[in-house]
Amino acid sequence: MEHREHVLLQATHGSRRHIDSEHYGPVGQGRKIYIQAALHADEIPAMLVATLLRRHLVALEKANRLQHEIVLVAVANPVGLSQYVMGALSGRFELGSGRNYNRNFPVHHQQIARKIEGALGQDIDRNREVIRSAWRECLDDWQPMDEYGSLQRTLMLLAHDADVVLDLHCSREASMHVYTGEEVWADVEPLSRYLGAEVSLLAKDSEGYSFDEALCLLWTRLQGLFDGAFPIPNGTVAVTVEHRGQRDVSYELAEQDAAAIIEFLIHRGAIEGQPAPLPALRNPATPLSGSEQFYAGSAGILVHRVPVGSQVQAGQALFDIVDPTTGEATTISSHNTGVLYMRREIRYVKPGDPLGRVSGPVPIRTGKLLGA
Ligand SMILES: [Zn+2]
Repeated sequence: MEHREHVLLQATHGSRRHIDSEHYGPVGQGRKIYIQAALHADEIPAMLVATLLRRHLVALEKANRLQHEIVLVAVANPVGLSQYVMGALSGRFELGSGRNYNRNFPVHHQQIARKIEGALGQDIDRNREVIRSAWRECLDDWQPMDEYGSLQRTLMLLAHDADVVLDLHCSREASMHVYTGEEVWADVEPLSRYLGAEVSLLAKDSEGYSFDEALCLLWTRLQGLFDGAFPIPNGTVAVTVEHRGQRDVSYELAEQDAAAIIEFLIHRGAIEGQPAPLPALRNPATPLSGSEQFYAGSAGILVHRVPVGSQVQAGQALFDIVDPTTGEATTISSHNTGVLYMRREIRYVKPGDPLGRVSGPVPIRTGKLLGA
């Protein structure tokens, strides 16, 4: 294992932060897998999965079974991890600016297109390398304005030349689910199966520019720009894994998830060995635009009518909002038949508060598909 330290742009005097990356297997010799955890900082289930993955990687490296370089970043956001408000860790947004740490990663397709014009040919593997080295130059040239940008740049530099990128997160209260690009779903499907994901959400461009999306979009945008003139692969299979809810921290669940990721990497040939038989996919993938989002229409006590992770039918009651001054309850029901894959952890709501989401097979939303 090779350890590297990546210093971030220092925000204030005496607050120098860095990212630690661990590089296992054949470092810098070709194919690469990149795994990071807790980009939203307060995502401890993901951090524990990464911690247990480390034990696997150490043992596999010792046994000489790593075929590709595997990079592990167990703490992807040391900035967010230092944000405590009145005793509570608050890692999703940069407190100074309100920016979500997993939005607006840049897609440098125009810049890269200018660099590679004339260098592309008919060899798809060579084109992949040409694009990656131009991408690297763009990231090297990028001068971030602040610590937030410096964090984005550091993570993209670590991930941009990986064949597979696993971005490990968790939600508020949730069942196991994944987000990925439509164009790489065939590559991600075995991971969903091994993880036992209840829901796999697909989008082409959610307009949120999360880490996984920005990495996938670079390739699809270049494919669009060069429109069949040159073969351009989907060079990065990137996926966001939501390791259930924030309080689902246990050795049992984390070990189950770490073992599933190892099986996926064996299945892909990144780790030598015979992969476990592929379990069935729990539910077919659904469009992200098909998820129904529920909001409170009034203030009150939020009472859940079904457990998170439930299969629900159209018309089924999901939430009651109870007015504590009158006792009147307003019931909110699903229009979708699907899985209540995530919900908020709050139990008192006010008008406009988001409550949760149910997957659905038919697109019902357009525009920005990712919330804050
Ligand atoms: Zn997250």
